[in-house]
Amino acid sequence: MFLLFVVLAAVVFPAPAGSVEITILYNNVPHAPGCTCQWGFACLIRGPRDTILFDTGGDGRVLLANMERLGADPREIDCVVLSHVHGDHTGGVAALLPRLKPVRWYVPADFVARFRRSLESAGHEVIPVSGPLEICPGVFSTGELGSGIREQGLIVDSEAGLVVITGCAHPGIVDMAAAAKTQRKQAIHLVLGGFHLGSRSRAELAGIIDGLRSLGVEKVAPSHCTGDTAMRLFAEAWRDNCLSSGCGARITVP
Ligand SMILES: [Zn+2]
Ligand SMILES: [Zn+2]
Repeated sequence: MFLLFVVLAAVVFPAPAGSVEITILYNNVPHAPGCTCQWGFACLIRGPRDTILFDTGGDGRVLLANMERLGADPREIDCVVLSHVHGDHTGGVAALLPRLKPVRWYVPADFVARFRRSLESAGHEVIPVSGPLEICPGVFSTGELGSGIREQGLIVDSEAGLVVITGCAHPGIVDMAAAAKTQRKQAIHLVLGGFHLGSRSRAELAGIIDGLRSLGVEKVAPSHCTGDTAMRLFAEAWRDNCLSSGCGARITVP
């Protein structure tokens, strides 16, 4: 009887159209058994018109193995977004390239020259990113931010509000979230990724938590380079709304 209800419920109440699923393919922070955890970050975004790979981790063999383990097929990827130049986000490009169909690559103008020739000669389209732009309906790049290491964040427009995804957040996690909110003029549901706070004092971390709170950030999913102390403080501040987002985690946004 219960089983019949479950089957009927799945038919009558299918997953809501427009939901966004984020799978963490590469992370030094552990989560799912069987995934290889290594320093770096990559995630796959499914749900929008295009399936998007955001960053590629540091080692392509680890990326591909984790993808297989997590049921992600390189051929389902429609575009790749590289957040910033660092090797723990771009190191997987070479191993991934022959496994992809021809896709669009969104690469910060800052370092597009490093990849352009190999991508274009493999038949891919390269889009240098400087200002904010639309990647596909409901998905946007913040454009290159920051005055030091230039970095783009990804903004996904969901029914719950904006999802902001960062690689290392070198321009500052509060500044990146604020830029997303200013650009899209909507509330922020979730900020996810590396927040790069390992060297910050407790007072600085308290200020950063306040900054995100005053932007109205409903949920956070810090990992990668966020740092242990910051991870603990985010968990204390957001409690159930601080989501576990290590390697292999799957986060669904309505
Ligand atoms: Zn990083
Ligand atoms: Zn970095």
